[in-house]
Amino acid sequence: MTTRRCPDCGVTMEEMELRTEDGFTLNLVTNEPKPGVLGGLGLKEKLKPVTVVCPECGLIRQYAEE
Ligand SMILES: [Zn+2]
Repeated sequence: MTTRRCPDCGVTMEEMELRTEDGFTLNLVTNEPKPGVLGGLGLKEKLKPVTVVCPECGLIRQYAEE
């Protein structure tokens, strides 16, 4: 498991699940080919973004992962 660190505080960010009020998880959907990171993850697929939160400053970051 990859450890994410807050760019401001340098502490380990905690992985959390981002949901709507109805309890649905959010999906990241890719539509067209793009070079770089997203292209390598598989096109036109639903990706579940990984959400991490900094316990110090509250920064939220999301990463597109398979
Ligand atoms: Zn922070």
